[in-house]
Amino acid sequence: MTGLAVAIVGAGPAGLFTLDALLRQAPEVRVDVYERLPTPFGLIRHGVAPDHQGTKAVVRQFDRAFGRPNVRLIADCDVGPAVPLELLREAYDLVFLATGAPVGRRLGVSGEDLPGVYGGAAFMAWLNGHPDYRGLEPQVGEQVVVVGGGNVALDVTRVLAKTEAEMASSDLCAHARRITGVARSITVVVRSPPEKARFTSSELAALGRLKTASVAIELPATADLSVPAVAALAALSGGPPSAATSIRFRFALQPIQVLGSGRVEQVRLQGPGGVEENVAADTLILAIGQAASPAPPRERTCAVGWAAGGRGDIPGARAEAADSVRRMLAGATVAPREAARARLNAWLEASGADLLDWAAWRRIDAAERAAAVPPRPREKLASWESLRRVARLYETV
Ligand SMILES: Cc1cc2nc3c(=O)[nH]c(=O)nc-3n(C[C@H](O)[C@H](O)[C@H](O)COP(=O)(O)OP(=O)(O)OC[C@H]3O[C@@H](n4cnc5c(N)ncnc54)[C@H](O)[C@@H]3O)c2cc1C
Repeated sequence: MTGLAVAIVGAGPAGLFTLDALLRQAPEVRVDVYERLPTPFGLIRHGVAPDHQGTKAVVRQFDRAFGRPNVRLIADCDVGPAVPLELLREAYDLVFLATGAPVGRRLGVSGEDLPGVYGGAAFMAWLNGHPDYRGLEPQVGEQVVVVGGGNVALDVTRVLAKTEAEMASSDLCAHARRITGVARSITVVVRSPPEKARFTSSELAALGRLKTASVAIELPATADLSVPAVAALAALSGGPPSAATSIRFRFALQPIQVLGSGRVEQVRLQGPGGVEENVAADTLILAIGQAASPAPPRERTCAVGWAAGGRGDIPGARAEAADSVRRMLAGATVAPREAARARLNAWLEASGADLLDWAAWRRIDAAERAAAVPPRPREKLASWESLRRVARLYETV
């Protein structure tokens, strides 16, 4: 595989595990990783909850890969608008598309666009400092309804139910710290029956450890307590007697309308047998998944991670990347691409883009760490302007 040139589009977990698998399976390949944001890591930085520092620590392993002379990060480069994908396909022998699934799924009910209604991933992106979401400024009230049966719904619920002290060693952004301790009631509406909920036991257990929140699990009469996941849910009920926040889980309910004049005030739910009820809400968060627009299959091109329509977790992205790389390397050939590479370089220069490399990310990383007051691990830069400024601050050309 000497001389094989590979482009990876997207520096989230799928893209970076693809890089890792390439370097393990064909160490001499030349790899350029394109990323539209000034920072790498995708949802590890902007999705994974700020109090899950252990999960975020996975990023440390990529320092070594980007220290190699045959690997480059080309960040602040939006493939599509900034450089055509077709040009990448001409300039590289293989192209991996790891662009994620950026669009939040919708309920498809009336009132869903009222102020006070937010997507779960968008909400997490805002409090995690994604520069595209800086202006979201969600209004978090005392009565919150979260719709969703997976871990993102639990992340949102946990972060809202934690106190300032419980978030002290997280990297919750400065602009988002106002959300802690506001919610008095959080109702988690799960559309499926409890047997089919996709919560993991470790995320559920974290709710049981909250200092000032109680948890009530309302299981339908038909719930099967012999299913371990349902028994684990049932065991979660409890909490401090004078809880500041009460969390209530309800199952097998479909949100059929969002009601309110000028902003969300109620959510109409439909239960088994068509029974309807209204639940009060001044904030509604829809953690019902993300959608990708999978690219049509093309020769020498492979979609990975959420861009391929998957919805797995970070460890899953690693296993999947290794398989995709094995499959793509098996059919790969090195072709003369000097002319296309020259066109690509000319395009990038002409676009006027001031692209960022791994050293630029290290400058952002160092500035964020230096700005943090312990035990906070970092004080995130959360605007395009500040990220770009710091990335170029100590640049020596
Ligand atoms: C709120 C939330 C919390 C989560 N928490 C956990 C958790 O605790 N543990 C866990 O294991 N999993 C968690 N997950 C799931 C995990 O984040 C995903 O499995 C994983 O991020 C998918 O990786 P990806 O690389 O496919 O997508 P992404 O992480 O979305 O990465 C895609 C990257 O591509 C870039 N990109 C997009 N378009 C372009 C373009 N045109 N040009 C260049 N670059 C582009 C993006 O900027 C981004 O950096 C969470 C997901 C969400 C939404």
